Amino acid sequence: MLDKGVSTATEDPQMFGHPKGLFYLFFAELWERFSFYGMRALLTLYMVNEIFKAIAERDAATAVVYASYGSLVYASTVIGGQISDKILGMRSSIFLGGILMAIGHFVLAIENDIAFFLALALIVVGNGFFKPNISTFVGALYKDGDVRKDSGFTIFYMGINIGGFVAPLLCGWLAAEYGWHYGFGLAGIGMMAGLIFFWSGIKKNVFGDKGMPPSQEVYEKKVAGIPQKTLIPIIAVLFVPVIAYLLSSWQANYVSGIFKFIGFAVLAYLGYIMYSLDTVARKKLFMAVLITFFMTLFWGFHELSGSVITLFASRNVALEGIMSASQTNALNSMFIIILAIPISLLWGYLSKNKLNPRTPYKFGLGLLLAGASFYILSISGLSANENGMVPFYYLFAMYFIISVGELFMSPVGLSKITDLSPKNIVAFMMGVWFLSSAFAFQIVGFISEELAIENVPGQVINPLDTLSVYTDGFHLIALYALGAGAVVLLFSPLMK
Ligand code: GLN
Repeated sequence: MLDKGVSTATEDPQMFGHPKGLFYLFFAELWERFSFYGMRALLTLYMVNEIFKAIAERDAATAVVYASYGSLVYASTVIGGQISDKILGMRSSIFLGGILMAIGHFVLAIENDIAFFLALALIVVGNGFFKPNISTFVGALYKDGDVRKDSGFTIFYMGINIGGFVAPLLCGWLAAEYGWHYGFGLAGIGMMAGLIFFWSGIKKNVFGDKGMPPSQEVYEKKVAGIPQKTLIPIIAVLFVPVIAYLLSSWQANYVSGIFKFIGFAVLAYLGYIMYSLDTVARKKLFMAVLITFFMTLFWGFHELSGSVITLFASRNVALEGIMSASQTNALNSMFIIILAIPISLLWGYLSKNKLNPRTPYKFGLGLLLAGASFYILSISGLSANENGMVPFYYLFAMYFIISVGELFMSPVGLSKITDLSPKNIVAFMMGVWFLSSAFAFQIVGFISEELAIENVPGQVINPLDTLSVYTDGFHLIALYALGAGAVVLLFSPLMK
């Protein structure tokens, strides 16, 4: 039996002091995120200006579809991770996911409303197979306790953000210059490039025996006369129209209802587990749940960048001669690329001097930074010109600060979850961790609907009418984020 848990890092080919496979995964993920963020940069503006342009509630409809897509695209990773662990293995999962995502992006390049929702659904299902498995693949390249693992993940996070930086610039430019569908098409080409990198890694045998199905027998086992390795892709494709239907029914907003139910179910299950644990384990698990909860709040503010903040950029930020509204989506990744290494060096330096703040303090600070970033946007109105347009540097500063916050929380949180969860539910907790991004999009949907501007079809929006809606909203978000950060910091001494 081939076991992906058995690592032979020292026998695998090495490059620049890391397993050579890391560099193939780096480029595969770079291009996958290129497609994901290139498309995300266009998504809200495309819905507002094309799909829903003729209806009065176009902002609200866009908010619901964006939130439902974001929630499902992250929740699907829970299922994709489980199927990979039990049946497909990481390699097949990554191929299946990558192919579905590439098709999704190419379908987006077709000008048609039904194609639009089918494409989003293909990306939801594809990402479910791709994203969790490429991340666990990185971990599998190193033996347990290998000191290079953390820096391996930092390099990988860089790849994510190089994709996230370049894609909005290029896809945004293509969309503005030649039309939306060229932008979406380029995202699809990016995904193909990712798959080619992954495939060439396999051809060059840089992954050793890793990422194979956990059991060849289970992989080939026939269910209803069809081997599981074929059955799963078939079922995955059958889910596409169902998800497309859920996404297109924005008035009913089924996805929000589904997530309320999942939220209660997860909390009830965690409550039940906590009840059965001893005191130390219970306290640890409680901490893990709190960390995930704070992360959900943070992503809830952070992920507004692809929705309300993109709309604010397009309606109220003076961008002429700088960049387009969709291109502003590149700023977060740009700051992550610049700051990731300095901040990880800072933690290292503070650790050496026994001053490294504990995780709850970092999380409290991260939320305070999110609050500060929205506060900056909220006061941008004070510098608005007579047309209601605010200077670009507010948006620039906002992205700088929230990116520092991201680096205080996201990379730290993931490793803490694995430390704090009881061993028998680590995989489940990893799923809950991914669900934090999924639930965050429900917060995004709620806020974006609150800040929706009514549309008079055929009439151009006057920035003077929208400015205070946004700045007042950002002020409220800032207060909530600052309040949450203050509460976390206040209780941090108790969270040991
Ligand atoms: N930017 C990171 C990525 O794309 C994390 C995003 C998230 O989890 N919400 O992988």
